Amino acid sequence: MNGFMADQTHYRIIILGSGAAGLTAALYAARADLEPLVVEGSQPGGQLTITTDVENYPGFPDGILGPDMMDQFRKQAERFGTRIVYGDVSAVELGTRPMAVQAGKDRYTCDALIIATGATAKLLGLDAESRLMGHGVSACATCDGFFFKDKELIVVGGGDTAMEEATFLTKFASKVTIVHRRDQLRASKIMQDRARANPKIDFIWDTAVEDIHGDPQAAGVTGVTLRNVKTGKEGSFACDGVFIAIGHQPNSQLFAGALDMDELGYIKTHDGTRTTLEGVFACGDVQDRIYRQAVTAAGSGCMAAIDAERFLTHLENSGLEPANR
Ligand code: NDP
Repeated sequence: MNGFMADQTHYRIIILGSGAAGLTAALYAARADLEPLVVEGSQPGGQLTITTDVENYPGFPDGILGPDMMDQFRKQAERFGTRIVYGDVSAVELGTRPMAVQAGKDRYTCDALIIATGATAKLLGLDAESRLMGHGVSACATCDGFFFKDKELIVVGGGDTAMEEATFLTKFASKVTIVHRRDQLRASKIMQDRARANPKIDFIWDTAVEDIHGDPQAAGVTGVTLRNVKTGKEGSFACDGVFIAIGHQPNSQLFAGALDMDELGYIKTHDGTRTTLEGVFACGDVQDRIYRQAVTAAGSGCMAAIDAERFLTHLENSGLEPANR
């Protein structure tokens, strides 16, 4: 508990989210003696906990497993006095002083808020997808790949996530077919090359998944209906599992109407990590539609903590009592 009072409910800084951005913000805020509270969110550790090897985070020349890296982030933030609580925030009051955050039955208040709620995997929107989720349909190869030993799988998507998931799944599956809606991949060259060189990976181009077949109570997924988007021709394709890897959606719904966002729901920031509301800062994937890397998320988390600290100093120097403790 880092010496925190068990019933403490007011914090100078509250950070929502415990991925690379949130925990880096916590580290910096804690080292500035601000004793921040982190509300973990529904996926403690964020998206890196559902990834495998992280090979592009500087300082780890041999790579590191995503979950291990987030454990280290967490320990480092806690070492300097961060309090981390489990919970998913259901409501925020941003227009009041202090601001308030509701997480389950607990209500916390703060003078500055850092939003680091990240992004979530997108789905195709098929009825069968939700019906068969966890029964052969998945959006996380690291979580579910193990269940598909010697099975035939498809991965939907043409970006880095699709290449990474497909490559990872070949550790278990006998064959992985990447189904992409265009004839060109969006993925970076190195990830493309790795997937193309893998003898267990095939590609089906210009093709959409129209339906997924199977029975959640029986064998799970048994196949998909594919449609060639150029010719319109449809056909069945047998497989034992479907991994959806078509990108992510920012977790910003909680702030709709309160903060300016772009048309995809990414929170708009200016002058560093400031949002359109004073005292509210955003960092990591919830405000980054372009880079979305662990290292950029961590970098923007650091920026958010520095911005928030300066805001608090300004608030205190201007004689405005930040909040009733
Ligand atoms: P991207 O947005 O880069 O790619 C999404 C892919 O899914 C695209 O190929 C897109 O097709 C396809 N797609 C989107 N919507 C649909 C749909 N409804 N039906 C069918 N296909 C669809 O997302 P990623 O998650 O792959 O990557 C996001 C970011 O994270 C990138 O910056 C990437 O570089 C990074 N990343 C890096 C990794 C690494 O370096 N280890 C690993 C994973 C991600 P189309 O191309 O036609 O738009």
